[in-house]
Amino acid sequence: MEIVQLSALKDNYIYMLICEETGMTGVVDPTSAEPVLKWLKDNNKKLDCIFNTHHHWDHIGGNKKLQKKFPNCEIVAPASEMERIPDIDLPVFDGYGVRLGQCRAVVIEVPGHTTGHVAYWFEKDNALFCGDALFSLGCGRMFEGTPTQMWNSLKKIRNLPEETQIYCAHEYTEDNAKFAETIETTNPLLKKYHQRITKMQSENISTIPSVLAIEKAINPFLRCDHPSLKQAIGMPDSTAEEVFAEIRARKDNF
Ligand code: ZN
Ligand code: FE
Repeated sequence: MEIVQLSALKDNYIYMLICEETGMTGVVDPTSAEPVLKWLKDNNKKLDCIFNTHHHWDHIGGNKKLQKKFPNCEIVAPASEMERIPDIDLPVFDGYGVRLGQCRAVVIEVPGHTTGHVAYWFEKDNALFCGDALFSLGCGRMFEGTPTQMWNSLKKIRNLPEETQIYCAHEYTEDNAKFAETIETTNPLLKKYHQRITKMQSENISTIPSVLAIEKAINPFLRCDHPSLKQAIGMPDSTAEEVFAEIRARKDNF
């Protein structure tokens, strides 16, 4: 599967997916239709499928216009957000298999940012499209879920293979790195990675995708059960859920 990253608004990423065997083309979280239509035109492709991770407007904003232009294009989106995402063709839930031509993905429910948030895991392609559930060095704001729910969602992602590429929906890495350094002040890998992404950003290079192995080592939201992190924030005897709630709250006010 070929994956192409398009930018939208200030910091959104839209992903074009192309099955190399069949030429079938999909898009993950079209913020708006325009960048997608431009790419399709430039590359002489039509759109077969839209994958939505959750109902927020910056992830479904392009659905309507794209489906109007390509009436056979199917909208795949979380079943539990059907009332909030118009015109879903294929409502999906945890464990459901979806395909784009020969490329297959498993749906993983990752509630917390919204109650029905899903991620699409293309195992053979080592790619996870996780919307606003997990960001590089951060995670989504907990708009609709509880800390326990969101922590469990992040643990599901953490259990995927280490080499999984994390295709999240926003370029928030630099700000996230600054926050992460206030939590684990002495994580040497975090410091190095921060320097690396600062350089990338100064050259206008995307920091996404990230790799799960790196996220596990330096993303504080994936490390809430690590004794060293608990110690670092003065909560050595707290549960992972409590630690998650605390650092999520700190990030909200950062
Ligand atoms: Zn969102
Ligand atoms: Fe978003």
